[in-house]
Amino acid sequence: MKALVKQKAEPGLWLMDVPEPVTGPGDVLIKVLRTGICGTDLHIRSWDGWAQHAVTTPRVLGHEFVGEVAALGADVQDIAVGDLVSGEGHLVCGRCRNCLAGRRHLCRSTVGLGVGRDGAFAEYVALPASNVWVHRAPVDLDVAAIFDPFGNAVHTALSFPLVGEDVLITGAGPIGIMAAAVARHAGARNVVITDVSPARLELARKVGATLALDVTHHGIAEAQRQLGLKEGFDIGLEMSGRPEAVRDMVDNMTHGGRIAMLGLPADEFAVDWSKIVTSMITIKGIYGREMYETWYAMTVLLEGGLDLSPVITGSYGYQDFDAAFDEAATARSGKIILDWTA
Ligand SMILES: [Zn+2]
Repeated sequence: MKALVKQKAEPGLWLMDVPEPVTGPGDVLIKVLRTGICGTDLHIRSWDGWAQHAVTTPRVLGHEFVGEVAALGADVQDIAVGDLVSGEGHLVCGRCRNCLAGRRHLCRSTVGLGVGRDGAFAEYVALPASNVWVHRAPVDLDVAAIFDPFGNAVHTALSFPLVGEDVLITGAGPIGIMAAAVARHAGARNVVITDVSPARLELARKVGATLALDVTHHGIAEAQRQLGLKEGFDIGLEMSGRPEAVRDMVDNMTHGGRIAMLGLPADEFAVDWSKIVTSMITIKGIYGREMYETWYAMTVLLEGGLDLSPVITGSYGYQDFDAAFDEAATARSGKIILDWTA
């Protein structure tokens, strides 16, 4: 089968013929229809410090996908050949304390699809049945392809109750934009999102952000005044991993404010902890999605009318992966889709 492979420990990706994945007794073999390109995949293509540490070659990339069940292992129940499915990209151990308690998203031995084992940028992918999410309600194929990052957005946005609250999102990449849509849909009063890319801020406006702020020209304190906020933001969703964004956020939170952090900083950095202490701020780290409460929430949010279509800004056949990756690497794009049937 065709697959996009990190073949050598150097920058680049290779479209190659590889053997179809082996389907064990508890596994589901999935014919991949469409995939989403994630920042993770861009890191692996460019072979930066993180990728060199996290990935061994050769490795088939990709963890955002939708596909059709092609075959079932002997022990698989409740999933049928032909079902439309996406996959949870974190494979958990099932044996650690958190897994045994049902808190699988907190597993201490998580393996990433397309990072620690072969992924979904291929004509077929095999996954344990416990990692397969069956789409039982009708769903747009492009949206189904990005359930994994949509899950990051939902998990982060719904980490704290936000009905009637003022929400600040730093970073208008695809996940930040989706989080803005979710926060709006779920009943936040104001949703302010910041970035330095006018194109991405425009996408955030399309999904309903109250204010999309270019922080190269305007400060967040200015936005507070514009919206009539007197005491700061109640909820912060940090999506950028940028030190200056984290500091800005801390500066603009209300006393007792709560911050969910998904943005992954490239290096350690300093923040004013005295401000965090005296403002009594709660900070929660987010990695992945809750299995499977987040997936349930994603499905019902879409059923309830949440519209993610503005987030998807490009679609390519898999043969054109280089152009697709180049577009995904710009600061202008939303989610870029690769079609594996074209
Ligand atoms: Zn575990």
